[in-house]
Amino acid sequence: MPIRKRHIAILGSTGSIGSQTLDVIRQHPDRFEVELLTANTSSDKLIAQAKEFHPAHVVIRSADKYHQVADALAGEDVKVWCGMDSICSLVSAEAVDMVVAAMVGFSGLRPTLAAIRAGKAIALANKETLVAAGSLVTRLAEEHRVPLLPVDSEHSAIFQCLLAAGNNRPSRLHLTASGGPFRTWPRERIAKATAAEALKHPNWDMGAKITIDSATMMNKGFEVIEASWLFDMAPSDIRVLVHPESVIHSMVEFADGAVLAQLGCPDMRVPIEVAISYPERLSLDGPRLNLAATGSLTFEEADPERFPCLGLAFEAIRRGGNVPCAMNAANEAAVKAFLQGKIGFYDIAETVSSAMDEVSFVSEPSLEDIFDTNREAYDRACAKTGLPL
Ligand code: MG
Repeated sequence: MPIRKRHIAILGSTGSIGSQTLDVIRQHPDRFEVELLTANTSSDKLIAQAKEFHPAHVVIRSADKYHQVADALAGEDVKVWCGMDSICSLVSAEAVDMVVAAMVGFSGLRPTLAAIRAGKAIALANKETLVAAGSLVTRLAEEHRVPLLPVDSEHSAIFQCLLAAGNNRPSRLHLTASGGPFRTWPRERIAKATAAEALKHPNWDMGAKITIDSATMMNKGFEVIEASWLFDMAPSDIRVLVHPESVIHSMVEFADGAVLAQLGCPDMRVPIEVAISYPERLSLDGPRLNLAATGSLTFEEADPERFPCLGLAFEAIRRGGNVPCAMNAANEAAVKAFLQGKIGFYDIAETVSSAMDEVSFVSEPSLEDIFDTNREAYDRACAKTGLPL
């Protein structure tokens, strides 16, 4: 009997994770069917993807690009929509089995919640969803018995180690970090870093937002919060270990002191494949690990003096409530301002830190509180960094 194809919706299909998801699917046309593709503004890429993968629906978020996409796909058997409301209703459609949440930033929250409410399995690449609303998202997923399958390489590594360990409970998690482009730079030089310098990531090819987050190490801070929600671990039991070669993707330690690690070449298509084909593993072309050629693996502690964002993330999860949401919102604005050359590198941490102090604290935020906090902290950060509101 032929295996039933898994029907996939990809939110943010033109971004780095979205495109690599389609590359995995391209290698297994007998296993996957693309049901829905969505993009923010990259209309040309969305059109090309729709022509190749023949989804039932595509959504372009930006209304001014709608006619371009609709006209280009007029001869195809695909329905074209625009706007966030369309995304939220289409992810809930009967035909969708799994949603790959790969939108950038806070915008991923609403459609991810809609997909969970509709009982869809979630391959989660959008870490901001858990950073901003971790308690709501994990509670809702539990209620609807929806698996949250991590696509982030570190969390996929932990997920794979835990599977291999028969789901025995770990005592500690070790998240590895490449250290980003400024790992060896002194603080004075980092202070003057430009957006172009911060965008040169040594190992991973990613979108602009996450690449800047890697340079500040805010990305690793987000990942600590993400790991604490996904694996129900206290942040104090989550360690960050700088490992410049990015060969060990993360590690899990057990009460007997044994440590399991997951290794591989830095290739995001592996964690994507693990998530979208779960519980099976499929083949994948690409580089293979050659440890003899790598020679040696190195490790060092993260430096909180040069990378203050990492400490801010630990602080945010410790304070809890809506503070991580405020941190995420202020970071989103600050990264935008830095990319536009409006602020310096360390102003990102400064902006985030003030947002965390200024937000009106809510200990158990509702969804409405989360949206309010996001707006308030984002607007304040815009005002502070000179971004237009
Ligand atoms: Mg990661």
